[in-house]
Amino acid sequence: MPFRFTLETPAAQPARAGVFETPHGPVATPAFMPVGTLASVKALDPDDLRALGAQMILSNAYHLHLRPGDEIVRAMGGLHAFMQWDGPILTDSGGFQVFSLETLRTIREEGVEFRSHLDGSRRFFTPETVMRIERNLGADVIMQFDHVVPGQSEAGLAREAMERSLRWLARCRDEFVRLEDVGPAEPPPEAMLSPEQAALGLALPRTARYGEQALFPIVQGGIHADLRRASARGIMELGDWVGVGIGGLSVGEPKPDMYAMLEETHEALPADRPRYLMGVGFPEDLVEGVRRGVDLFDCVAPTRMGRTGGVFTTDGRLNIKRAEFRVDPRPLDEACDCPACRRFSRAYLRHLFVTEEILGLRLLSLHNVHFLVRLMRDARTALRDGRFDAWSTDWLARYFSTRT
Ligand SMILES: [Zn+2]
Repeated sequence: MPFRFTLETPAAQPARAGVFETPHGPVATPAFMPVGTLASVKALDPDDLRALGAQMILSNAYHLHLRPGDEIVRAMGGLHAFMQWDGPILTDSGGFQVFSLETLRTIREEGVEFRSHLDGSRRFFTPETVMRIERNLGADVIMQFDHVVPGQSEAGLAREAMERSLRWLARCRDEFVRLEDVGPAEPPPEAMLSPEQAALGLALPRTARYGEQALFPIVQGGIHADLRRASARGIMELGDWVGVGIGGLSVGEPKPDMYAMLEETHEALPADRPRYLMGVGFPEDLVEGVRRGVDLFDCVAPTRMGRTGGVFTTDGRLNIKRAEFRVDPRPLDEACDCPACRRFSRAYLRHLFVTEEILGLRLLSLHNVHFLVRLMRDARTALRDGRFDAWSTDWLARYFSTRT
């Protein structure tokens, strides 16, 4: 079996440590997955990511479909070869991006018609086309195409989207199984491609040799406990999944609502499958998520914040651009052993930011990604040592004690 999840802590408690085995290697959980939306974790090289201890990374089907085109990625040997990352990869389906294009899309039962945010060209995503795109990209874990609604949607809309996501999951599953049977040689339907991509894609050799992929369903239901439970139940009736995504959280709802939904979902899902909380990645959310049984996280926050001067530290967040750091000889975080903290002062990093030196962006991104990867590694150690409750309480108390 190329995919397997083994729990290393007692299943009776929500917070757990485990190992998720994939065709491109194991992931010790809980784990943070850095985000490389466009097949690049911004400003970081795959060697950097490995050195930081990143195990699995995330990329995005919507963005790679538009640029460079999933057919081109496939012709280049798939995402692992294209971006030179030989560890596990997960691709998001693009549901979140497509539904974010509020004025540019039309939702039907068949799928979503939308205009590219790049050139306005007309596109049509269905569960079937998204499976073909994610097959072309070749990630280890691929997400279903789901109907995403805003975080605080009323129950009627949240139910409609949750039920449609279940119907689309069944279609994703059927197409996923069909593609596995067909193998990588089938030409893509031209409707998926721009004329340029179709012309180029069909002319390129199909060199990709894909291993097995795992399709993850996504629990939806907004902030409505009954809908979250119904979604989890419906998902488990549709298949025997390798793992499960939890979507539609951290999109504007109050944090207590998100935590309550995680508790509902935890109880409704089987304990022996990894759970991936989508798009959630501030340090406190990771710790609270682990407390409620989440194994995998991703978020653009560490690199996006890094590009605006935002820094995670053990004592809360700071912004390196502030004048108080002008002559500060300390590292960003005394407790951090990342390449930025081992060598450089806050004063130097502030100088790089103020003068818009590229190195500043890179060092802050390195630090922030390292911070979350290490946070999950520390949580894992505490879980395996049976002291996670005390560790997480202390960690949160310190993180919030000095936050401004
Ligand atoms: Zn650091």
